Amino acid sequence: QDSATPMVFGTDEKIEGILDQSITRHFLTNLKDQNNKICAEYVWIGGTGWDLRSKSRTLDKKDYKPQDLPCWNYDGSSTGQAPGEDSEVYLVPRAIYKDPFRMGDNILVMCDTYEPPRANKDGSMTALKPLPTNTRHLCAERMEKAKDQEPWFGIEQEYTLLNSVTKWPLGWPKGGYPAGQGPYYCSVGAGRSIGRDIPEVHYRCCLHAGIQISGVNGEVLPSQWEYQVGPVEGIAMGDQMWMSRYLMYRVAELFNVEVTFDPKPIPGDWNGSGGHVNFSNKATRVAPTGWQAIQEQCEKLGKRHALHIAAYGEGNERRLTGKHETSSMNDFSWGVANRGCSIRVGRMVPVEKCGYYEDRRPSSNLDPYVVTGLLVETTLL
Ligand code: ADP
Ligand code: MN
Ligand code: MN
Ligand code: MN
Ligand code: MN
Repeated sequence: QDSATPMVFGTDEKIEGILDQSITRHFLTNLKDQNNKICAEYVWIGGTGWDLRSKSRTLDKKDYKPQDLPCWNYDGSSTGQAPGEDSEVYLVPRAIYKDPFRMGDNILVMCDTYEPPRANKDGSMTALKPLPTNTRHLCAERMEKAKDQEPWFGIEQEYTLLNSVTKWPLGWPKGGYPAGQGPYYCSVGAGRSIGRDIPEVHYRCCLHAGIQISGVNGEVLPSQWEYQVGPVEGIAMGDQMWMSRYLMYRVAELFNVEVTFDPKPIPGDWNGSGGHVNFSNKATRVAPTGWQAIQEQCEKLGKRHALHIAAYGEGNERRLTGKHETSSMNDFSWGVANRGCSIRVGRMVPVEKCGYYEDRRPSSNLDPYVVTGLLVETTLL
């Protein structure tokens, strides 16, 4: 998403008046009996590599593992992922969460995307081929190779709420600017913590779903918020992060508010949005050798700075200017307790001789499959 050319979804101010949500609430509250069926909302990443899509199907009520769920398909010509004449995309269920919207035994299913398998001459099926937008596939391979080293991640997801009609940050004066930054970070009070209902409802939804959300806070830009997911091991980090974003879009939709994960929603002297990735593994978590392991990993990361930067989010160059608590994207640096570095090591790490460190370079629109996979490849493989 580019803030200069805001996308207009089919939002119409009048919709609010047509849909009376008290009617919806009546049925959702009273019709709880689903006759031994559940709804499974299959969620996947569409053709931009960023857009989230989903559709539902009814299944018999059972205790499912991802591999027990049926694979499915969708029309890839409608998501920019396949030509019209051969449009089917194959969906493979990978992770299951409880559905905080439908509640009960209903589930959300994070999937990844493949070309449909075809029959060989001997009747066997061809191997599944991941779509170009399926970044999960490579990440899962890397996580499998690094499994014994137990990589853990914690991602800090920053985002900004926008008025869905004007595309201007929620609560900002029409066509104008609020008082400058300072009072908003971790704030309380009207005009400071703007739109708190959204992070609050999202927080509960994540907890209900089984996402390991570890906290929420108001951010520096008015109407900007953050939540953290972690620590989560391996491929589950990307799955949980993408599903947490799906929940964020769904919650904001109920308030008719738009969410932007753009790294620099407002140009100028306003903070951008990051997606700091906190990282540790078995070696860094054990004292006293952990501190040495962290230093070695930082050295390795310094040697592949350009490769990482290129994979850390679209439009990140608008954010990583060296101002607003960022490092310049042209230089690599790491340091203890320094928020102006590419990588920040916690103040207690040299004291306790173990722990984790924070890669501050990824932007808010990072693909967690790409970033976690690359961190593992550079430092552990
Ligand atoms: P900051 O001080 O940079 O704002 P936050 O508190 O927002 O940090 O986020 C820290 C993240 O690090 C959380 O998601 C937390 O779960 C995660 N984390 C904690 N311990 C570890 C660890 N050992 N390895 C990886 N991530 C961790
Ligand atoms: Mn149809
Ligand atoms: Mn944080
Ligand atoms: Mn933050
Ligand atoms: Mn941070």
